[in-house]
Amino acid sequence: MQAFNDHLMVLASPWMDGRLPGTKGMAQAMDYVEWGFRKAGLAAPAKAADGSPSYRQPFSLGDKRSFSNQTLTASAKGKALEFALNKDWLLTEIGPASDVTGELVFVGYGIDNPDRNYTSFDESTSLEGKVALLLRFEPMKEAGTSRWSERGWSGAAGFQNKLAAVAKRNPAAIILVNTPGASDDRIKSLKVSGSGLAKVPVAIVSPEAADVLVKAAEDGQRSIMDLRKLADEKGTVIAWPGTRVHLSATEERSQLMAENVVGLLPGRGAIKDEIIVMGGHLDHLGYGDFGSRSGPGPLHPGADDNASGSAGIMLLADLLGKEYAKLPADQPLRSILFIAFSAEESGLNGSRHYVRNPLFPARDHVIMFNYDMIGRMKNERLSVSGSGSAKGLHEFVTPIYEKAKQDYGIVVVATKEPDMGGSDQASFLQAGIPALFGIIADFHQDYHTPRDVQGLINRESAVKSVWLFRDLALAIAQRPERFEFDTNMGPMRGSPLRVRLGVRSADTEDNSGVSIAEVTTGGAAEAAGFKLGDKLIKWNKTTVTSREQFVGLLRTHEPGDEVQAVVLRDGEQVTLFVKFPAKS
Ligand SMILES: [Zn+2]
Repeated sequence: MQAFNDHLMVLASPWMDGRLPGTKGMAQAMDYVEWGFRKAGLAAPAKAADGSPSYRQPFSLGDKRSFSNQTLTASAKGKALEFALNKDWLLTEIGPASDVTGELVFVGYGIDNPDRNYTSFDESTSLEGKVALLLRFEPMKEAGTSRWSERGWSGAAGFQNKLAAVAKRNPAAIILVNTPGASDDRIKSLKVSGSGLAKVPVAIVSPEAADVLVKAAEDGQRSIMDLRKLADEKGTVIAWPGTRVHLSATEERSQLMAENVVGLLPGRGAIKDEIIVMGGHLDHLGYGDFGSRSGPGPLHPGADDNASGSAGIMLLADLLGKEYAKLPADQPLRSILFIAFSAEESGLNGSRHYVRNPLFPARDHVIMFNYDMIGRMKNERLSVSGSGSAKGLHEFVTPIYEKAKQDYGIVVVATKEPDMGGSDQASFLQAGIPALFGIIADFHQDYHTPRDVQGLINRESAVKSVWLFRDLALAIAQRPERFEFDTNMGPMRGSPLRVRLGVRSADTEDNSGVSIAEVTTGGAAEAAGFKLGDKLIKWNKTTVTSREQFVGLLRTHEPGDEVQAVVLRDGEQVTLFVKFPAKS
């Protein structure tokens, strides 16, 4: 209990920056897990670039763009203004970095919407060489909610159309304003999603900074709120010939690297080359940089998701090491490979890299255990899915589940079907490796929010679930014959749909997702906020490609399941939460 608590407190502490891959906090978290693996006596199963033994398996997460030397200044009617980076403004990845100076022009919401009889521009509007000051979202009512949509914003508010409408008029740069008074928490943050949508630099400014700029340009006559109200009524362009803005930054591209932390408990005898993987993801969402239910900005400590599982893996390394040492020297034992995966949250990247680049021959991987969220158990209920993924596995593990109930009070909610999308076990199942996935049986609303904090972790139940996994691993490690993957349990084809999303969907030409062609009134998709024209690109951690693949993902769900979906809406990624109604 003490050890579990120590690991949890360290990994979920603010010092770990929400364990976002590529950050200093994540590097520290990986160092901590490696320290734990070494202390438990695990061997280093990987090789560093120089050939020396290593506890790390590095992999690339693709290109990373970073900006430096960012400055934003203005001179308005002879008065010099300077804006503070990160507080007042930030250059976004929507456009490139460069060095531009131009006259400031207010372009309102930058929307051409003939359907609503609303247009920000007339045919003659040219922004050639100028810096466009553009309000985020769309015309609002007094209270900051949309004039055009009952729920959230209409399609007109997305970046893609707005940026295209402004870009058509050839500005030198665009300054996006977090529109004051908008009923949308995103105005509190300078982080925006969307990359490469514009060919000119796009900066974002806080409502306060926009107000300073406008008041200077207007000689104190009007505020940014006054201008918002004009634009709420009708399209408005205001040129300020006396105000010039200077925006500059340089851009570097580098590879964003992540690392799985790995450690080996060597087996013995004839089956020592066979590998049991004991895994859990270490990474989380940083400061809500993506995938957050409540938006970017505050620290997302991810205590349950998945500091709890990572702490569990560290504890298991120690407990299983001790069990192996106690067993007679001539007892044949499989080897256990412990892996703290990275970049799970962005799409199972660490586990996918591992199965494509295993440290031991692929064929020797007998089974994988995944631990993702064991910290918020209610009534000692732990869901363990996938006992149907190998022949005879369900029959083998059932008595162990029963014993855990008797001895530790853990209630296993067992599902034979494997979970093919939710977490890292999916990568192993897709590679034909049987997998058991342990997760709290009852979901909580703090998932993927800043409220997933260590104070809410049920340490006692988590440790009991660790004992269950220790018993499972120990029994499977000694079983004379190995488990074989049950291909019938693999892709789950042909099994009936038990849930209804309530959309009509269509394939995209480039298999880049599934487009939503209709949203059924009263369905789960409508309640989650799906809109006509959305492109569904992610379903839990799985990248959606085609309708066929997506329907396969739907087959794995049962009533009551909750899913985090990502749709592309006018160039912006929007995260939606689907809850399939429980059976009544
Ligand atoms: Zn997780």
